[in-house]
Amino acid sequence: MISKIKKIVLLGPQGSGKSTQAEVIADFLAVPVVIASQILQKIVAKQSDLGKKIGELMVHGELVPDEHMINLMLEELGGSTCFNGFILDGFPRNLVQAQALDNSCGVDKVFNIEISDEEAIRRIHGRRVCTNGHVFHLEFNPPKEEGICDVCRQALYQRKDDEKEAVQHRLSIYRHETAKLLEYYSKQKKLVIFDGAQPIPKVSQDILDYLKKNA
Ligand code: AMP
Repeated sequence: MISKIKKIVLLGPQGSGKSTQAEVIADFLAVPVVIASQILQKIVAKQSDLGKKIGELMVHGELVPDEHMINLMLEELGGSTCFNGFILDGFPRNLVQAQALDNSCGVDKVFNIEISDEEAIRRIHGRRVCTNGHVFHLEFNPPKEEGICDVCRQALYQRKDDEKEAVQHRLSIYRHETAKLLEYYSKQKKLVIFDGAQPIPKVSQDILDYLKKNA
């Protein structure tokens, strides 16, 4: 799809379906999804001094210093795969990062997939996984047999960071991080809000309709 919107930042709390929507938009626009945490993981895997430092911060859920984050992301976005556009997931996370992005390649639109904290907690709290990474949901995608993975018959369990208190903590960090970003992009008239509480295919439809209307 040829569109004048091709550099997109995606915002949305855990449980909003942001990663799924990123793939839908990327397919539609034929641009790559650039995920900040994956770029960081590649550096961590190299086990360099910087990689070790970043790994430590990530394990504790702390933000990587802006200077490193900005360098890594701008390097990625400056590469040939992002030449025709990109969908950014996880970057920018604060004003310094947003300004650095504006001072380099810039963004066309910022899509915020909004859901309430209650809905986010409900969605994440019901998630169950097995040790092989198969994912179920007690309400939306229950296993055929309670507590057992349909695929590999392993026991299902709840991830530590999916427990209610942990989710609440992650959400409060997210709200704190993004409040200023929403204001920043709203002032620039780039912010578009989608209702993430709807079924995932309906959210995708709303986003694609918006892109078609504004192509
Ligand atoms: P995420 O999966 O997006 O929550 O990112 C996982 C971890 O990677 C975060 O807890 C941070 O340690 C780090 N990280 C990801 N994106 C950023 C960013 N834009 N700025 C700083 N740290 C980040």
